Amino acid sequence: MHYKQFFYLTFTFQIDPMLQVKNISFSYHQDPVLQQINFTVEKGGTLAIVGESGSGKSTLLKLLYGEFDLNKGQIFWGEDEILGPKFNLITGPEYMKYVAQEFDLMPFTSVSQNIGEYLSNFYLKKKKERIEELIEVVELTPFAKTKVKYLSGGQKQRVALARALAKEPEILLLDEPFSHIDNLKRQSLRRNIFKHLKEQNITCIVATHDKDDIVSFADQMLVLNEGETLAYGTPKELYNKPKYSLVASFFDEFNEFKISEVSDINKFGIVMVYPHEIKLVNNSNLSGVVKKSYFRGNCYLVEVTFNERSVFFNHSSEIAIGKKIHFEIIESVLKTRMP
Ligand code: ADP
Ligand code: MG
Repeated sequence: MHYKQFFYLTFTFQIDPMLQVKNISFSYHQDPVLQQINFTVEKGGTLAIVGESGSGKSTLLKLLYGEFDLNKGQIFWGEDEILGPKFNLITGPEYMKYVAQEFDLMPFTSVSQNIGEYLSNFYLKKKKERIEELIEVVELTPFAKTKVKYLSGGQKQRVALARALAKEPEILLLDEPFSHIDNLKRQSLRRNIFKHLKEQNITCIVATHDKDDIVSFADQMLVLNEGETLAYGTPKELYNKPKYSLVASFFDEFNEFKISEVSDINKFGIVMVYPHEIKLVNNSNLSGVVKKSYFRGNCYLVEVTFNERSVFFNHSSEIAIGKKIHFEIIESVLKTRMP
């Protein structure tokens, strides 16, 4: 390579910034709320923060936004350190937008005006186009001129999302972003939003407990339990090998079997098995008595009593209560999931 070419490549190639959370800890008062949290998110990547209510998801988003001072650790976006109020007069770096669980909008102005609030009036035509585009993303076109105070909770949440996207942030923090939106709209809205984020290469951190926000859209997921990291990996990794029942519980109903119950291996430990990984067979060492079949739409979730507890599996039809059945666990599942 010619030396000029070398210099060109070395000095003009811009490295995309990355969000780096380095060993942060935080408490509002005495009790620690978050402890030793570490993760990175690449530019354009999506991280889902998952955890039960009170586990610290919202607090973590607020820390990323610089709303509080950390007790320990550091947060960086590229070279830029994100600092709390002790070091910053204005909360929130300009390249970041945060949609809180309690979104605040301007109730007496229209949907369009709310979305355009932060956009400059200098290029009015451009502003108008941008607002129209975002109103379409959140599927509120018929309400463009409606005052926000007349909207439902879910519609307001959609306005808040569009407003956060208006100025093309580099990082978007979303706290339970679809929680107020009814099922009918949720699926398509979720697809629109995540598609938009990918197209614009916006980095997104989303706190959620809805598995549909995670499995198809998050590149990584971080599971919090009482302020500590319980698991961190791709949704696929954590789904296929959940080390803890709390992790499996975000994806689906699941069963826990002792290794000794499902194999000849002489070892202590638990194997987690999802209901669709168990099938009915004519004969096997595993058997149970049907307690109930729950209609699930595309199948039935059948509850059987096995070793004095309930085991759940999916089946295409309802099975009569009291019937004795044999079942087995799909072999590949046992192979991958055996601890
Ligand atoms: P999540 O969003 O996962 O439900 P939060 O981050 O809201 O969890 O809360 C984590 C913990 O911090 C909870 O125990 C909660 O009671 C506490 N907490 C949240 N906000 C405050 C606050 N402003 N002051 C004191 N404690 C708080
Ligand atoms: Mg919360």
